[in-house]
Amino acid sequence: RTVYLNGAFLPENEAHISIFDRGFLFGDGIYEVTAVLEGKLVDSPLHMARLERSIGEIGGFLPISTDEIVEIERRLIAENGLVEGMIYLQYTRGAEDRNFFYSKDLRPTLLMFTQSKKLDVASVMETGLKVKTVPDQRWERRDIKSVCLLPQVLAKRIAKEAGCDEAWMVEDGFVTEGASSTAYIITADDKIITRANSNATLPGCTRLAVLDLARAHGLIIEERPFTVEEALNAREAALTSASNFIVPITEIDGKAIGGGKPGPMIAKLREFYMDNARKTAV
Ligand code: PLP
Repeated sequence: RTVYLNGAFLPENEAHISIFDRGFLFGDGIYEVTAVLEGKLVDSPLHMARLERSIGEIGGFLPISTDEIVEIERRLIAENGLVEGMIYLQYTRGAEDRNFFYSKDLRPTLLMFTQSKKLDVASVMETGLKVKTVPDQRWERRDIKSVCLLPQVLAKRIAKEAGCDEAWMVEDGFVTEGASSTAYIITADDKIITRANSNATLPGCTRLAVLDLARAHGLIIEERPFTVEEALNAREAALTSASNFIVPITEIDGKAIGGGKPGPMIAKLREFYMDNARKTAV
């Protein structure tokens, strides 16, 4: 596999990062995951906008333009013959002797690689996913897509040990979001409920695209927090993420949602999303 590192296209085993990289020593970095379908980037402008925002929020700067990044991503897709999967991008503040304070002239580290994976999985739409709720133990700037993912790694481990696919993180009785996804419920009167963007959650690119499509189709959206209790009694539940698109959740903490079967609203949103994703991919 060819990867991109700091201006160079290299075989993956020739790409090396310094032991002094601040991403490694401090978790001082930002990342993005963009889905690839039929060899094209899904929701690319949304991911580039969020990348710029995250880097701005940590006082960093991109060494190249987002247009150049997209060109690099497309070249990696072509060179690696990627049809379906993802592009992972990581930005760190750079490398120098360990010191919490950083030099202003530090050259950032920019890494991109492709990963092949079947993303559009039909069986998930038939069975749905299982979720386990866990306490949200993260910091207060969850809107920044930081590489500091230890709370999510631990949350996912608990979910997996409980036989679940994803962890839903809970704070003061309210679901904030999934460990690597945005959380939704559908009420008995067909309202789509998901939290409004704030510092409490990562502003999902898939969320933005799905809600835009839902609105365009005249569906009713309520952007507000929901409790675990409300989720357990919801008609449908779902998650969105770049690598899952939108998928139904049929079990939360061992309790069946919607009779344990995926419902019509999420199926409809999935159809809208997949159609649009394929049409707008670049
Ligand atoms: N929330 C968290 C905490 C995430 O890590 C992610 C994705 O990794 C999402 C939400 C979903 O964001 P997106 O749809 O942009 O992948």
